[in-house]
Amino acid sequence: MRSMKVLIIDDDVDSLAIAKLRLKKDGYIIYSAQDGVEGIEKTRAEDPDLILLDVQMPGKSGFEVCEELKSDSELCNIPVIFLSAADDISEKVKGLDLGAVDYVTKPFDIFELRARVRAALRTKRLQDLLLKYGEVDSLTEIYNRRVLMERLHQEWDRSLRSNIIFSFIMIDIDKFKNVNDTYGHPVGDVLEKVADILRRSIRSGDIVGRYGGEEFGIIMVNSTVQEAFVAADRYRHQIEKIVFKAKKASFSVTASFGVADSSGKNSLDKLVSAADSAMYEAKESGRNKVCIFD
Ligand code: GH3
Ligand code: MG
Ligand code: MG
Repeated sequence: MRSMKVLIIDDDVDSLAIAKLRLKKDGYIIYSAQDGVEGIEKTRAEDPDLILLDVQMPGKSGFEVCEELKSDSELCNIPVIFLSAADDISEKVKGLDLGAVDYVTKPFDIFELRARVRAALRTKRLQDLLLKYGEVDSLTEIYNRRVLMERLHQEWDRSLRSNIIFSFIMIDIDKFKNVNDTYGHPVGDVLEKVADILRRSIRSGDIVGRYGGEEFGIIMVNSTVQEAFVAADRYRHQIEKIVFKAKKASFSVTASFGVADSSGKNSLDKLVSAADSAMYEAKESGRNKVCIFD
């Protein structure tokens, strides 16, 4: 089993030194940072399995650092344990509601801290296993690309056997790089909500998955491209109606859709690239649109 990596973010050098020393003896690889900005940099660079995060720090507080971690799709699955001198319930509740797995008050008892670290890492190992062998994308909780592609293959084979037409819809959020650059943190939230709308809107039997970063795919069983167009346009409208809240403003996003069906295609690759080129046509002709490949 590989050694687990623990990052300690704490401006208090004494408490940092004690935790570092004892946890190192327990066999973990320890990284440390003395403020929030350095802490987030080290999180990105080292991909720790657990973060011990001090609440009261100069500059960014631990709560702010936690919020930033939890809204980043790449970092949000790393468990956080808060370390804090504040012992009141409302602070603990706030910390846990921000997504932390635990809250330890300072000065900490080193035996308690070690036990809580062990507990958090046990759960982290299970989470890693689930994601590794799992079928679901951890951020959006819809099927990941691998499963979406497997289901496409199954549907393709079924359509060959039974001569039933099915459709594939490709969806790509428009100007997502701008959303990222302008609003930063809520992008994980955008992907989650868009996925959620799609999951709740599709017909039973249809399948939605995350195809790539800000790209989704829907398999519409037993549907021609004309039927899929109508559904896709409904999804398009539902996405543009969602209101997202950022720190200073609210905003919305749009998406472009490409639709193709299995009729007349001599391979699954042809069907996927047909949906893809229809999606690019939607982008080229102004975005927030559904285009059909025909
Ligand atoms: P358009 O599709 O309308 O042409 O513009 P776009 O900006 O969405 O297009 P492009 O495909 O060039 O870039 C996608 C960008 O979306 C890249 C990256 O900044 C952002 N992005 C994609 N997936 C993720 C993700 O999972 N997390 C974050 N934070 N950003 C993502
Ligand atoms: Mg894209
Ligand atoms: Mg895009």
